[in-house]
Amino acid sequence: QVSFTGMNITVAGLGVSGVSAARALAGLGARVTVVDGGDSPALRERATPLEAAGVTVRLGDAATLPAGTELVVTSPGWQPGSPLFAAAAEAGVDVVGDVEIAWRLRALPGASAAPWLAVTGTNGKTTTVQMLASILEAAGLRTAAVGNIGTPIIDVVLSGEPYDVLAVELSSYQLHWAPSVRPHSAAVLNLAPDHLDWHGSMRAYAVDKGRIFEGNQVACVYNADDPATERLVEQADVEEGCRAIGFTLGAPGLSELGVVEGLLVDRAFVADRRTNAQELAETSDVTPAAPHNIANALAAAALARAFGVEPAAVRDGLRAFTPDAHRIAHVADVDGVAYVDDSKATNTHAAEASLAAYESIVWIAGGLAKGATFDELVKKSAKRLRGAVLIGADRALIAEALARHAADVPVVDLDRTDTGAMAAAVREAARLAGPGDTVLMAPACASMDMFVNYNKRGEAFADAVRALAAPDPGCA
Ligand code: ADP
Repeated sequence: QVSFTGMNITVAGLGVSGVSAARALAGLGARVTVVDGGDSPALRERATPLEAAGVTVRLGDAATLPAGTELVVTSPGWQPGSPLFAAAAEAGVDVVGDVEIAWRLRALPGASAAPWLAVTGTNGKTTTVQMLASILEAAGLRTAAVGNIGTPIIDVVLSGEPYDVLAVELSSYQLHWAPSVRPHSAAVLNLAPDHLDWHGSMRAYAVDKGRIFEGNQVACVYNADDPATERLVEQADVEEGCRAIGFTLGAPGLSELGVVEGLLVDRAFVADRRTNAQELAETSDVTPAAPHNIANALAAAALARAFGVEPAAVRDGLRAFTPDAHRIAHVADVDGVAYVDDSKATNTHAAEASLAAYESIVWIAGGLAKGATFDELVKKSAKRLRGAVLIGADRALIAEALARHAADVPVVDLDRTDTGAMAAAVREAARLAGPGDTVLMAPACASMDMFVNYNKRGEAFADAVRALAAPDPGCA
Protein backbone atom coordinates (compact mmCIF):
# COMPACT_ATOMS: atom_id res chain seq x y z
CA GLN A 1 0.00 0.00 0.00
CA VAL A 2 1.57 3.29 -1.10
CA SER A 3 0.24 6.51 0.16
CA PHE A 4 2.02 9.82 0.27
CA THR A 5 -1.12 11.70 1.32
CA GLY A 6 -0.43 14.05 4.18
CA MET A 7 3.23 13.05 4.34
CA ASN A 8 5.90 15.72 4.91
CA ILE A 9 8.34 15.24 2.07
CA THR A 10 11.51 17.20 1.36
CA VAL A 11 12.73 17.16 -2.23
CA ALA A 12 16.44 17.90 -2.60
CA GLY A 13 17.24 19.86 -5.73
CA LEU A 14 15.13 22.00 -8.03
CA GLY A 15 16.24 20.26 -11.23
CA VAL A 16 14.22 18.30 -13.79
CA SER A 17 13.73 15.25 -11.57
CA GLY A 18 13.14 17.38 -8.45
CA VAL A 19 10.42 19.39 -10.15
CA SER A 20 8.79 16.21 -11.44
CA ALA A 21 8.90 14.54 -8.02
CA ALA A 22 7.61 17.63 -6.19
CA ARG A 23 4.72 18.13 -8.56
CA ALA A 24 3.70 14.47 -8.54
CA LEU A 25 3.91 14.10 -4.77
CA ALA A 26 2.02 17.33 -4.12
CA GLY A 27 -0.60 16.08 -6.58
CA LEU A 28 -0.96 12.98 -4.42
CA GLY A 29 -1.63 15.08 -1.35
CA ALA A 30 1.85 15.18 0.21
CA ARG A 31 3.14 18.34 1.91
CA VAL A 32 6.23 19.02 -0.18
CA THR A 33 9.16 21.35 0.42
CA VAL A 34 11.85 21.64 -2.26
CA VAL A 35 15.27 22.79 -1.05
CA ASP A 36 18.10 23.98 -3.25
CA GLY A 37 21.41 25.55 -2.30
CA GLY A 38 21.28 27.92 -5.26
CA ASP A 39 19.31 31.12 -5.52
CA SER A 40 19.00 32.79 -8.89
CA PRO A 41 16.32 34.36 -11.08
CA ALA A 42 16.21 31.14 -13.13
CA LEU A 43 15.55 29.04 -10.02
CA ARG A 44 12.91 31.47 -8.81
CA GLU A 45 11.20 31.24 -12.13
CA ARG A 46 11.21 27.46 -11.89
CA ALA A 47 9.81 27.67 -8.36
CA THR A 48 6.80 29.82 -9.23
CA PRO A 49 4.54 27.19 -10.85
CA LEU A 50 5.43 24.72 -8.11
CA GLU A 51 4.46 27.21 -5.44
CA ALA A 52 1.19 27.74 -7.27
CA ALA A 53 0.65 23.99 -6.93
CA GLY A 54 1.08 24.23 -3.16
CA VAL A 55 4.76 23.28 -2.91
CA THR A 56 7.05 25.21 -0.57
CA VAL A 57 10.36 26.15 -2.20
CA ARG A 58 13.35 27.12 -0.06
CA LEU A 59 16.33 28.50 -1.95
CA GLY A 60 19.84 29.29 -0.74
CA ASP A 61 20.07 26.58 1.92
CA ALA A 62 20.86 23.01 0.95
CA ALA A 63 21.94 21.83 4.37
CA THR A 64 19.12 22.20 6.92
CA LEU A 65 16.44 19.53 7.02
CA PRO A 66 13.00 21.20 7.20
CA ALA A 67 11.31 20.44 10.51
CA GLY A 68 8.90 17.51 10.43
CA THR A 69 10.39 15.90 7.30
CA GLU A 70 9.31 12.24 7.04
CA LEU A 71 10.99 11.37 3.72
CA VAL A 72 13.72 12.95 1.59
CA VAL A 73 13.54 12.57 -2.19
CA THR A 74 16.88 13.46 -3.72
CA SER A 75 18.01 14.41 -7.18
CA PRO A 76 20.67 12.06 -8.53
CA GLY A 77 23.48 14.63 -8.57
CA TRP A 78 23.54 15.28 -4.84
CA GLN A 79 26.62 13.82 -3.16
CA PRO A 80 25.85 11.04 -0.63
CA GLY A 81 27.90 13.04 1.87
CA SER A 82 25.66 16.12 1.60
CA PRO A 83 24.86 17.68 4.99
CA LEU A 84 21.13 17.35 4.29
CA PHE A 85 21.46 13.55 4.21
CA ALA A 86 23.51 13.55 7.40
CA ALA A 87 20.69 15.52 9.01
CA ALA A 88 18.16 13.04 7.62
CA ALA A 89 20.14 10.09 8.99
CA GLU A 90 20.30 11.77 12.36
CA ALA A 91 16.52 12.25 12.33
CA GLY A 92 15.96 8.64 11.19
CA VAL A 93 14.45 9.79 7.89
CA ASP A 94 14.85 7.73 4.70
CA VAL A 95 16.48 9.22 1.61
CA VAL A 96 15.37 7.91 -1.80
CA GLY A 97 15.54 9.06 -5.41
CA ASP A 98 12.88 9.79 -7.99
CA VAL A 99 13.32 6.32 -9.48
CA GLU A 100 12.39 4.75 -6.14
CA ILE A 101 9.30 6.96 -5.95
CA ALA A 102 8.35 5.97 -9.51
CA TRP A 103 8.73 2.31 -8.60
CA ARG A 104 6.52 2.66 -5.51
CA LEU A 105 3.91 4.63 -7.48
CA ARG A 106 3.43 1.69 -9.86
CA ALA A 107 1.15 0.20 -7.19
CA LEU A 108 -1.30 3.12 -7.34
CA PRO A 109 -4.56 2.61 -9.21
CA GLY A 110 -4.23 4.20 -12.65
CA ALA A 111 -0.42 4.18 -12.61
CA SER A 112 1.53 2.10 -15.09
CA ALA A 113 2.59 -1.17 -13.48
CA ALA A 114 4.37 -2.21 -16.70
CA PRO A 115 7.50 -4.27 -16.02
CA TRP A 116 10.89 -2.59 -16.33
CA LEU A 117 13.74 -3.69 -18.54
CA ALA A 118 16.64 -1.81 -17.00
CA VAL A 119 20.07 -0.84 -18.28
CA THR A 120 23.12 0.47 -16.50
CA GLY A 121 26.85 0.62 -17.20
CA THR A 122 29.57 3.21 -17.33
CA ASN A 123 28.89 3.95 -21.00
CA GLY A 124 26.25 3.19 -23.59
CA LYS A 125 23.20 3.38 -21.33
CA THR A 126 21.19 5.92 -23.30
CA THR A 127 22.05 4.34 -26.62
CA THR A 128 21.12 0.86 -25.41
CA VAL A 129 17.85 1.96 -23.85
CA GLN A 130 16.89 3.72 -27.07
CA MET A 131 17.80 0.66 -29.13
CA LEU A 132 15.77 -1.45 -26.75
CA ALA A 133 12.73 0.83 -27.02
CA SER A 134 13.07 0.74 -30.80
CA ILE A 135 13.11 -3.09 -30.73
CA LEU A 136 10.13 -3.27 -28.37
CA GLU A 137 8.19 -0.88 -30.62
CA ALA A 138 9.05 -2.99 -33.66
CA ALA A 139 7.52 -5.91 -31.75
CA GLY A 140 4.29 -3.95 -31.43
CA LEU A 141 4.70 -3.30 -27.71
CA ARG A 142 3.68 0.00 -26.11
CA THR A 143 6.81 1.34 -24.47
CA ALA A 144 8.89 4.38 -23.56
CA ALA A 145 12.60 4.97 -23.06
CA VAL A 146 13.00 6.56 -19.63
CA GLY A 147 15.50 7.18 -16.86
CA ASN A 148 18.12 9.77 -17.59
CA ILE A 149 16.41 10.61 -20.84
CA GLY A 150 13.26 12.29 -22.03
CA THR A 151 10.25 12.50 -19.76
CA PRO A 152 11.02 12.04 -16.04
CA ILE A 153 10.23 8.50 -14.94
CA ILE A 154 7.61 9.53 -12.36
CA ASP A 155 5.67 11.39 -15.05
CA VAL A 156 5.76 8.33 -17.32
CA VAL A 157 4.50 6.01 -14.58
CA LEU A 158 1.67 8.44 -13.74
CA SER A 159 0.85 9.36 -17.35
CA GLY A 160 -2.12 7.02 -17.59
CA GLU A 161 -0.68 5.52 -20.80
CA PRO A 162 -1.23 1.76 -21.07
CA TYR A 163 2.41 0.73 -21.40
CA ASP A 164 3.31 -2.92 -21.89
CA VAL A 165 6.92 -2.50 -20.77
CA LEU A 166 9.38 0.32 -20.01
CA ALA A 167 12.99 0.58 -21.16
CA VAL A 168 14.68 2.21 -18.18
CA GLU A 169 18.13 3.76 -18.03
CA LEU A 170 19.51 3.79 -14.49
CA SER A 171 22.67 5.67 -13.56
CA SER A 172 24.77 4.54 -10.62
CA TYR A 173 23.43 7.55 -8.71
CA GLN A 174 19.85 6.57 -9.36
CA LEU A 175 20.52 2.97 -8.34
CA HIS A 176 22.14 4.17 -5.15
CA TRP A 177 18.88 5.82 -4.11
CA ALA A 178 16.46 3.15 -5.41
CA PRO A 179 16.60 0.21 -2.98
CA SER A 180 13.34 -1.54 -3.86
CA VAL A 181 13.38 -1.48 -7.67
CA ARG A 182 12.98 -5.04 -9.04
CA PRO A 183 13.31 -5.15 -12.83
CA HIS A 184 11.88 -7.90 -14.99
CA SER A 185 15.38 -8.15 -16.46
CA ALA A 186 18.43 -5.90 -16.40
CA ALA A 187 21.76 -5.42 -18.14
CA VAL A 188 25.11 -4.05 -17.01
CA LEU A 189 26.96 -2.99 -20.15
CA ASN A 190 30.44 -2.37 -18.79
CA LEU A 191 32.17 -1.21 -15.65
CA ALA A 192 35.03 1.26 -15.67
CA PRO A 193 36.10 3.93 -13.20
CA ASP A 194 33.79 6.96 -13.41
CA HIS A 195 32.13 9.28 -10.91
CA LEU A 196 34.53 8.02 -8.25
CA ASP A 197 34.41 11.44 -6.65
CA TRP A 198 30.69 10.82 -6.02
CA HIS A 199 30.78 7.17 -4.95
CA GLY A 200 34.03 7.37 -3.02
CA SER A 201 35.60 4.20 -4.45
CA MET A 202 35.44 1.79 -7.37
CA ARG A 203 33.98 -0.80 -5.02
CA ALA A 204 31.16 1.47 -3.89
CA TYR A 205 30.46 2.36 -7.53
CA ALA A 206 30.29 -1.34 -8.49
CA VAL A 207 28.00 -2.08 -5.55
CA ASP A 208 25.59 0.62 -6.71
CA LYS A 209 25.66 -0.63 -10.30
CA GLY A 210 25.11 -4.19 -9.12
CA ARG A 211 21.87 -3.23 -7.40
CA ILE A 212 20.21 -3.32 -10.80
CA PHE A 213 20.20 -7.13 -10.69
CA GLU A 214 18.50 -7.37 -7.29
CA GLY A 215 15.24 -9.27 -7.57
CA ASN A 216 15.44 -9.72 -11.36
CA GLN A 217 12.86 -12.20 -12.53
CA VAL A 218 13.91 -13.46 -15.92
CA ALA A 219 17.42 -12.47 -16.97
CA CYS A 220 20.54 -10.75 -15.66
CA VAL A 221 22.46 -9.65 -18.73
CA TYR A 222 26.21 -9.10 -18.39
CA ASN A 223 29.09 -8.32 -20.72
CA ALA A 224 31.05 -11.55 -21.17
CA ASP A 225 34.00 -9.46 -22.39
CA ASP A 226 34.05 -7.48 -19.13
CA PRO A 227 34.40 -9.90 -16.18
CA ALA A 228 33.57 -7.21 -13.62
CA THR A 229 29.99 -7.17 -14.91
CA GLU A 230 29.67 -10.94 -14.53
CA ARG A 231 30.81 -10.73 -10.92
CA LEU A 232 27.88 -8.42 -10.23
CA VAL A 233 25.48 -11.13 -11.43
CA GLU A 234 27.12 -13.68 -9.17
CA GLN A 235 26.70 -11.38 -6.19
CA ALA A 236 23.05 -10.52 -6.87
CA ASP A 237 20.06 -11.92 -5.08
CA VAL A 238 17.64 -12.78 -7.90
CA GLU A 239 14.28 -14.49 -8.20
CA GLU A 240 14.27 -18.24 -8.64
CA GLY A 241 14.65 -19.23 -12.27
CA CYS A 242 16.31 -15.97 -13.29
CA ARG A 243 19.08 -16.68 -15.78
CA ALA A 244 22.51 -15.14 -16.31
CA ILE A 245 22.84 -14.21 -19.99
CA GLY A 246 26.12 -12.98 -21.46
CA PHE A 247 26.87 -10.98 -24.56
CA THR A 248 30.18 -10.93 -26.37
CA LEU A 249 31.73 -9.47 -29.50
CA GLY A 250 33.10 -12.95 -30.22
CA ALA A 251 31.28 -16.20 -30.97
CA PRO A 252 28.69 -16.81 -28.26
CA GLY A 253 28.87 -19.67 -25.79
CA LEU A 254 25.75 -21.31 -24.43
CA SER A 255 23.44 -18.77 -22.80
CA GLU A 256 25.12 -15.93 -24.67
CA LEU A 257 24.46 -13.57 -27.54
CA GLY A 258 27.40 -12.81 -29.78
CA VAL A 259 28.75 -12.15 -33.24
CA VAL A 260 29.48 -14.76 -35.91
CA GLU A 261 30.63 -13.72 -39.39
CA GLY A 262 28.96 -10.33 -39.35
CA LEU A 263 25.76 -11.60 -37.76
CA LEU A 264 24.33 -10.91 -34.33
CA VAL A 265 23.28 -14.32 -33.02
CA ASP A 266 21.48 -15.58 -29.96
CA ARG A 267 22.32 -18.84 -28.21
CA ALA A 268 20.45 -17.98 -25.03
CA PHE A 269 16.83 -17.72 -26.06
CA VAL A 270 16.70 -20.15 -29.00
CA ALA A 271 13.09 -21.10 -29.34
CA ASP A 272 13.80 -24.37 -31.07
CA ARG A 273 16.26 -26.38 -29.00
CA ARG A 274 17.37 -28.34 -32.06
CA THR A 275 18.84 -25.24 -33.63
CA ASN A 276 22.06 -24.17 -32.13
CA ALA A 277 21.75 -20.44 -32.59
CA GLN A 278 19.25 -17.92 -33.79
CA GLU A 279 20.24 -15.16 -36.22
CA LEU A 280 19.04 -11.75 -35.08
CA ALA A 281 20.51 -9.11 -37.37
CA GLU A 282 23.56 -8.13 -39.36
CA THR A 283 26.21 -5.94 -37.77
CA SER A 284 25.51 -3.45 -40.59
CA ASP A 285 21.99 -3.05 -39.19
CA VAL A 286 23.57 -1.20 -36.24
CA THR A 287 24.44 2.54 -36.52
CA PRO A 288 27.30 3.31 -36.05
CA ALA A 289 28.62 -0.23 -36.51
CA ALA A 290 31.59 0.43 -34.19
CA PRO A 291 32.42 -2.47 -31.82
CA HIS A 292 31.21 -0.77 -28.65
CA ASN A 293 27.91 -0.06 -30.32
CA ILE A 294 27.48 -3.66 -31.50
CA ALA A 295 27.89 -4.56 -27.84
CA ASN A 296 25.10 -2.12 -26.96
CA ALA A 297 22.88 -3.71 -29.62
CA LEU A 298 23.55 -7.19 -28.23
CA ALA A 299 22.60 -6.06 -24.73
CA ALA A 300 19.39 -4.47 -26.01
CA ALA A 301 18.62 -7.62 -27.97
CA ALA A 302 19.21 -9.80 -24.91
CA LEU A 303 16.72 -7.80 -22.83
CA ALA A 304 14.14 -7.79 -25.61
CA ARG A 305 14.56 -11.54 -26.10
CA ALA A 306 14.20 -12.06 -22.33
CA PHE A 307 10.87 -10.28 -22.69
CA GLY A 308 9.85 -12.68 -25.44
CA VAL A 309 10.49 -10.52 -28.52
CA GLU A 310 10.92 -12.38 -31.82
CA PRO A 311 14.19 -12.18 -33.81
CA ALA A 312 12.62 -10.29 -36.72
CA ALA A 313 11.59 -7.45 -34.39
CA VAL A 314 15.15 -7.24 -33.07
CA ARG A 315 16.39 -6.69 -36.61
CA ASP A 316 13.65 -4.19 -37.49
CA GLY A 317 14.15 -2.28 -34.26
CA LEU A 318 17.91 -2.01 -34.72
CA ARG A 319 17.47 -0.84 -38.31
CA ALA A 320 15.01 1.83 -37.21
CA PHE A 321 17.36 3.17 -34.53
CA THR A 322 19.36 6.36 -35.07
CA PRO A 323 21.83 7.56 -32.43
CA ASP A 324 21.35 10.84 -30.57
CA ALA A 325 23.48 13.87 -31.30
CA HIS A 326 27.06 14.21 -30.00
CA ARG A 327 27.73 10.47 -29.97
CA ILE A 328 30.42 9.85 -32.57
CA ALA A 329 28.61 12.20 -34.94
CA HIS A 330 30.39 13.00 -38.19
CA VAL A 331 30.18 16.79 -38.57
CA ALA A 332 32.00 17.49 -41.84
CA ASP A 333 35.03 16.76 -44.00
CA VAL A 334 37.28 19.77 -44.51
CA ASP A 335 40.39 19.50 -46.70
CA GLY A 336 40.33 15.72 -46.49
CA VAL A 337 40.09 15.71 -42.69
CA ALA A 338 37.02 14.20 -41.00
CA TYR A 339 35.65 16.07 -37.96
CA VAL A 340 33.83 13.91 -35.44
CA ASP A 341 31.86 15.10 -32.40
CA ASP A 342 31.84 12.65 -29.50
CA SER A 343 31.14 15.25 -26.85
CA LYS A 344 29.22 12.55 -24.95
CA ALA A 345 32.54 10.82 -24.26
CA THR A 346 32.63 12.35 -20.79
CA ASN A 347 34.94 9.73 -19.25
CA THR A 348 38.05 7.81 -20.25
CA HIS A 349 36.23 4.56 -20.98
CA ALA A 350 33.96 6.22 -23.54
CA ALA A 351 36.85 8.13 -25.10
CA GLU A 352 38.78 4.88 -25.38
CA ALA A 353 35.93 3.34 -27.38
CA SER A 354 35.81 6.20 -29.84
CA LEU A 355 39.60 6.54 -30.16
CA ALA A 356 39.64 2.82 -31.03
CA ALA A 357 37.28 3.46 -33.94
CA TYR A 358 39.75 5.62 -35.95
CA GLU A 359 43.29 5.18 -37.25
CA SER A 360 45.06 8.53 -37.37
CA ILE A 361 43.61 11.00 -34.94
CA VAL A 362 44.05 14.56 -33.81
CA TRP A 363 42.41 14.41 -30.45
CA ILE A 364 40.65 17.32 -28.75
CA ALA A 365 40.36 16.54 -25.05
CA GLY A 366 40.01 18.02 -21.60
CA GLY A 367 37.43 19.35 -19.18
CA LEU A 368 36.53 18.10 -15.71
CA ALA A 369 38.29 14.82 -14.94
CA LYS A 370 36.01 13.80 -12.03
CA GLY A 371 38.87 12.03 -10.29
CA ALA A 372 39.95 9.99 -13.32
CA THR A 373 43.50 9.16 -14.42
CA PHE A 374 44.49 9.13 -18.08
CA ASP A 375 47.50 6.80 -18.26
CA GLU A 376 45.59 3.73 -19.47
CA LEU A 377 43.64 5.67 -22.07
CA VAL A 378 46.75 7.35 -23.48
CA LYS A 379 48.75 4.12 -23.46
CA LYS A 380 46.05 2.28 -25.40
CA SER A 381 45.50 5.09 -27.89
CA ALA A 382 49.05 6.46 -28.32
CA LYS A 383 49.80 4.75 -31.63
CA ARG A 384 46.66 6.22 -33.22
CA LEU A 385 47.40 9.79 -32.16
CA ARG A 386 48.81 12.21 -34.67
CA GLY A 387 48.36 15.14 -32.34
CA ALA A 388 46.40 16.40 -29.37
CA VAL A 389 44.85 19.72 -28.42
CA LEU A 390 44.00 20.21 -24.76
CA ILE A 391 41.47 22.55 -23.21
CA GLY A 392 39.60 22.81 -19.93
CA ALA A 393 40.23 22.77 -16.21
CA ASP A 394 41.97 19.41 -15.83
CA ARG A 395 43.93 19.38 -19.08
CA ALA A 396 47.25 19.15 -17.20
CA LEU A 397 46.37 15.58 -16.15
CA ILE A 398 46.05 14.60 -19.80
CA ALA A 399 49.19 16.54 -20.77
CA GLU A 400 51.15 14.63 -18.14
CA ALA A 401 49.83 11.26 -19.33
CA LEU A 402 50.71 12.18 -22.92
CA ALA A 403 54.21 13.19 -21.84
CA ARG A 404 54.62 9.84 -20.07
CA HIS A 405 53.25 7.51 -22.73
CA ALA A 406 53.15 9.39 -26.04
CA ALA A 407 56.13 11.70 -25.93
CA ASP A 408 56.35 11.85 -29.75
CA VAL A 409 52.83 13.15 -30.19
CA PRO A 410 52.67 16.92 -30.71
CA VAL A 411 50.49 18.48 -28.03
CA VAL A 412 48.98 21.95 -28.04
CA ASP A 413 48.01 22.96 -24.52
CA LEU A 414 45.61 25.84 -24.99
CA ASP A 415 45.50 26.83 -21.34
CA ARG A 416 41.93 28.06 -21.76
CA THR A 417 38.61 27.33 -20.10
CA ASP A 418 36.43 29.95 -21.76
CA THR A 419 33.71 28.86 -24.20
CA GLY A 420 35.67 30.35 -27.11
CA ALA A 421 38.42 27.82 -26.44
CA MET A 422 36.66 25.19 -28.54
CA ALA A 423 36.92 27.27 -31.71
CA ALA A 424 40.60 27.84 -31.02
CA ALA A 425 41.06 24.11 -30.39
CA VAL A 426 39.45 23.23 -33.71
CA ARG A 427 41.75 25.65 -35.55
CA GLU A 428 44.80 24.14 -33.81
CA ALA A 429 43.60 20.63 -34.60
CA ALA A 430 43.13 21.59 -38.26
CA ARG A 431 46.75 22.75 -38.31
CA LEU A 432 47.99 19.44 -36.90
CA ALA A 433 45.81 17.22 -39.12
CA GLY A 434 46.53 16.05 -42.64
CA PRO A 435 44.36 14.41 -45.33
CA GLY A 436 42.98 11.08 -44.14
CA ASP A 437 43.14 12.08 -40.47
CA THR A 438 40.21 12.40 -38.13
CA VAL A 439 39.86 15.29 -35.73
CA LEU A 440 38.03 13.64 -32.85
CA MET A 441 36.53 15.65 -30.02
CA ALA A 442 36.17 12.92 -27.39
CA PRO A 443 37.16 14.87 -24.30
CA ALA A 444 37.25 12.00 -21.73
CA CYS A 445 36.00 14.63 -19.28
CA ALA A 446 32.79 16.30 -18.21
CA SER A 447 31.98 19.64 -19.81
CA MET A 448 30.75 21.75 -16.92
CA ASP A 449 33.96 23.72 -16.46
CA MET A 450 33.38 25.39 -19.83
CA PHE A 451 29.86 24.60 -21.00
CA VAL A 452 26.36 24.17 -19.60
CA ASN A 453 26.45 20.53 -20.69
CA TYR A 454 27.95 18.19 -23.28
CA ASN A 455 25.34 19.23 -25.87
CA LYS A 456 26.60 22.81 -25.80
CA ARG A 457 30.18 21.57 -26.03
CA GLY A 458 29.28 19.50 -29.09
CA GLU A 459 27.50 22.43 -30.70
CA ALA A 460 30.52 24.68 -30.10
CA PHE A 461 32.68 22.09 -31.84
CA ALA A 462 30.31 21.74 -34.80
CA ASP A 463 30.04 25.53 -35.15
CA ALA A 464 33.82 25.82 -35.19
CA VAL A 465 34.11 23.08 -37.83
CA ARG A 466 31.54 24.79 -40.02
CA ALA A 467 33.46 28.06 -39.65
CA LEU A 468 36.58 26.23 -40.88
CA ALA A 469 34.68 24.89 -43.87
CA ALA A 470 33.25 28.30 -44.78
CA PRO A 471 35.39 31.04 -43.27
CA ASP A 472 33.52 34.23 -42.48
CA PRO A 473 34.07 36.45 -45.54
CA GLY A 474 34.50 39.43 -43.24
CA CYS A 475 37.68 37.88 -41.87
CA ALA A 476 39.13 36.90 -45.23
P1 ADP B 1 25.53 6.86 -21.28
O1 ADP B 1 24.06 7.04 -21.34
O2 ADP B 1 25.94 5.65 -20.49
O3 ADP B 1 26.30 8.07 -20.92
P2 ADP B 1 25.63 6.95 -24.20
O4 ADP B 1 24.84 5.93 -24.90
O5 ADP B 1 25.07 8.32 -24.12
O6 ADP B 1 25.99 6.43 -22.75
O7 ADP B 1 27.08 7.00 -24.84
C1 ADP B 1 28.06 7.85 -24.25
C2 ADP B 1 29.40 7.74 -24.95
O8 ADP B 1 30.00 6.53 -24.52
C3 ADP B 1 29.32 7.64 -26.46
O9 ADP B 1 29.49 8.90 -27.03
C4 ADP B 1 30.48 6.74 -26.81
O10 ADP B 1 31.66 7.50 -26.89
C5 ADP B 1 30.65 5.87 -25.61
N1 ADP B 1 30.04 4.54 -25.64
C6 ADP B 1 28.79 4.18 -26.00
N2 ADP B 1 28.61 2.87 -25.82
C7 ADP B 1 29.76 2.39 -25.29
C8 ADP B 1 30.20 1.10 -24.85
N3 ADP B 1 29.39 0.04 -24.90
N4 ADP B 1 31.46 1.01 -24.37
C9 ADP B 1 32.27 2.07 -24.30
N5 ADP B 1 31.92 3.30 -24.68
C10 ADP B 1 30.68 3.46 -25.18
